[in-house]
Amino acid sequence: MKILYTDLHKRHATDQVLFEGHPYSVEEIPARAEVLLDAIREAHIGTILTPTDHGLDPILRVHTIDYVTFLSTVYEAYTTLYPQETAVFPGTFATRYTGRRPKAMLGLLGYYAFGWGSPILEGTWEAAYWSAQCSLNAADEVLKGEQTAYALTRPPGHHASIDLYGGFCYLNNAAIATRHLQHVHKDTKVAILDIDFHHGNGTQMIFYADPSVLYCSLHADPNYDYPYYWGFSDERGMEAGEGLNCNWPLPRDTSDAEYLCALDEALIRIHAFDPHYLVVSLGMDILEGDPVGGFMLSLEGLQEIAKQVAGLGLPTVLVQEGGYLLDRLDDSGVAFLQAFT
Ligand SMILES: [Zn+2]
Repeated sequence: MKILYTDLHKRHATDQVLFEGHPYSVEEIPARAEVLLDAIREAHIGTILTPTDHGLDPILRVHTIDYVTFLSTVYEAYTTLYPQETAVFPGTFATRYTGRRPKAMLGLLGYYAFGWGSPILEGTWEAAYWSAQCSLNAADEVLKGEQTAYALTRPPGHHASIDLYGGFCYLNNAAIATRHLQHVHKDTKVAILDIDFHHGNGTQMIFYADPSVLYCSLHADPNYDYPYYWGFSDERGMEAGEGLNCNWPLPRDTSDAEYLCALDEALIRIHAFDPHYLVVSLGMDILEGDPVGGFMLSLEGLQEIAKQVAGLGLPTVLVQEGGYLLDRLDDSGVAFLQAFT
């Protein structure tokens, strides 16, 4: 297996964030990727590659130029205005989306962010850009004939939409990989399976009307868990994409057996769609004890999920999303990836 990684993710130094002079802690920290990388090295899972630069074009097949320009410039603009700050947080949100895009930076922050938990730091754009490059390079490996490639992406991506960031996500790595596969091979059908604990609202929005992409997500019931406003079972896609958005909201404390039942339905759906490629949004926050999760899945359960997904036999791009239980990320990462080797 080819594994794509760059230590530029550390530029998104979320373990050193200050808000109004006080430490501000988020669970999505650089140590996550380092724990995964060390475990992958130790278990000899595959060859670790540094991504090459595909530039902005493949990112702009998913995100708008205005949004990308905003993300890549807002830190400098903000800290010029407020030199005492080291992280950019929105303050006012475009609640229930008015559709108006203001000109002022403070207004733009609430226009492009849907939550407060994604600080923009000095190196956030660089880290997000290279995270996207990891997913593009992983897609390239699969295009070259690898059965599976794994993008060790950080920051994660599935909450980021066309022009929206939040939930630790800025650029939607899984969507960028998907569009890249379709750009290289026209008329390509891609299935995205999202097994992160949280619904991938960004991915859902990007492909909601797209007949060439099936999005299947198993996640916590949004009535009670983040991202709250998306992920219900009656969100089934629209227009030509009607029926190609499939959500399995699951109750808190979901166990291995219940999860695997829902997964079985998702895999049947993917098989029926008959895609050329599979992209997996891989969130290990489904494991019991995850500080931002709430399911009760065991390591054996995770291994079984991986076995079932690998059993589809599709060329697969694995894209890292959540997973915050640092002292189990190593075992869970290895357990999942080994099923694909
Ligand atoms: Zn998550």
